[in-house]
Amino acid sequence: MKSGFSQDITRRGTLGLGAMVLGTPALVWPLGKVSLVHGDEILVNQIGFLKDAPKQIALRSKGRSKAGKVNFDVMDARNDRRAGRLETKAVGTDDPHLATANISSLQLVGTFYLKSGDIRSPKFTISTNVFENLNRSLLRAFYLQRCGVALKDPITGLSHAPCHTKDALSVGGSHRDCTGGWHDAGDFGKYVATTSVSIGEILSLYEDRPGNFSDGEMDLPESGDGVPDILSEMRVGLGWLLKMQKTYGPFNRKVAGRQWPSMTAYPQADVQERFAYGLSTGDTAKAAAALAIASRVYKSINSSEARRYLLAAEEAWIYLKNHPSPTIERETSDDTGSGAYFDDEKADQKWDVSDRLWMAAELYLATGNREYAQEVARRIDNQILWPASWANPSSIGMLNLLRDGRLIASEDLRQAVRGKLLSRADEFEKTSQVSPWGVADLHFGWGSNRNIAARGRILLAAFEETGEEKYLKAATAQANYILGQNPNAISYVSGSGTTSPQNLHHRLLIASRTDNAGTQIPGLLVGGANEEASAANLSELEPAARYRDDPASFETNEFAIDNNAALLSLLGRMSSLRQTTKPGFFTRLRRRVGL
Ligand SMILES: [Zn+2]
Repeated sequence: MKSGFSQDITRRGTLGLGAMVLGTPALVWPLGKVSLVHGDEILVNQIGFLKDAPKQIALRSKGRSKAGKVNFDVMDARNDRRAGRLETKAVGTDDPHLATANISSLQLVGTFYLKSGDIRSPKFTISTNVFENLNRSLLRAFYLQRCGVALKDPITGLSHAPCHTKDALSVGGSHRDCTGGWHDAGDFGKYVATTSVSIGEILSLYEDRPGNFSDGEMDLPESGDGVPDILSEMRVGLGWLLKMQKTYGPFNRKVAGRQWPSMTAYPQADVQERFAYGLSTGDTAKAAAALAIASRVYKSINSSEARRYLLAAEEAWIYLKNHPSPTIERETSDDTGSGAYFDDEKADQKWDVSDRLWMAAELYLATGNREYAQEVARRIDNQILWPASWANPSSIGMLNLLRDGRLIASEDLRQAVRGKLLSRADEFEKTSQVSPWGVADLHFGWGSNRNIAARGRILLAAFEETGEEKYLKAATAQANYILGQNPNAISYVSGSGTTSPQNLHHRLLIASRTDNAGTQIPGLLVGGANEEASAANLSELEPAARYRDDPASFETNEFAIDNNAALLSLLGRMSSLRQTTKPGFFTRLRRRVGL
């Protein structure tokens, strides 16, 4: 909150205009009919909305934003003809230049834009599967990040020779095969932490919604082999994870060189020596969790493959049982050419607790073994439900426990997880109400888009658990923010919407453009606004605006595989909502106004 003025106004969208103002009467916003004027903007999720879900947009004014009735022409984007009229209310936010408007009454199916005078919104689609193409693009991005093989993609035109074929040396100097896997982000490092969490999120989504995925949908080299493409792609990461495990159970943390590769070089030109850096208990537990999920998912496709995953996870479990204290082998020089993916602030704490809890939950769901259940019960009391991230992934396991209720031996355990979920979701829902942008976190740190998507995932889980509309509305608001209802009016996934990142911090993209200036890589979710970003002049902007579409801005404009996994975790479930809202909600929703 930036000023005394804004602190006096709190958004109360559902209570009507009269309840909006908490401050003195002098601060009451002008009510009545709002006419958008030159310079005003309509900010909208540029992908669109599910037909039967809440729909919200934002109205931004250069001057003070106004509250009141506002009318739009609903224009069919195919022929620029008016498809209907929409009357709604603009409601103020903590930002004096910003109002929001509920357009849930819009129930037409198609692609539209809103028009008020000469002000037009970006295009958006309303349908029952509005995120389908975007989700496919987010998943296909993993294919474009493959390491160790030649890439020749007919769809994007992206190509490179086999890269990093000598991965890797142990720090002691002996060679070991750690080829394959995915480049993590705009660099060419490969990390057990982000690979495990990405696989965990995506395979959990598959377990939730297997019917949403099919063979051939992603145009992979493996397409047509009878295995859903999502599982073919996750095998790339799983195969690499197996190579990162020592024969006695633990996992190395990452494979990378000592120097960051040139920003303009293709991956095969990065020929520096690369190392498999130290062991860590946290990374070992994360990898075991991902492999345990894989042992469940692949059982019906290839039972010996599934057994291999389970065996690797159980070996890691035994190692960790014998090494109960968090340990990490790490020298400062290990991180000179790659990310640390280790939270220094937690170094003196039990920093791998969340990882171990996740592992135990997934092994329990894979085997039904009581030893794992006891470990979950022992650890869960002290854990709050974190938005899933490489640093705190346990909520992936907790939500899987909640989903597979049949397997849960103890109703107490289920209730414990449910209580943690709902108290977290309530907190996020309240924050979403306060934020002018509807987001569930008032801080925009590193990877803010990933964090916002992860909070949306928790809100959506609360909706699926309870059927309460407020959670669905808040979950939708997280998607809206990432896909265009934000200060930069940008959909943060490359190649999506009307305006999206063009100049990512991404070495393969930059190298490819030296050969073909028009190269684009679709489906990459960038980090997004970062209030600590160092780029010039950003600090003058509000935190949610501190983003730059510039290859140098690695703090805001770099893709990472776990960004995509977090957004898939949200949008992949929104594509086919399992829960419906309580009776009456859709009846109210379907009441068309002016259409
Ligand atoms: Zn590579």
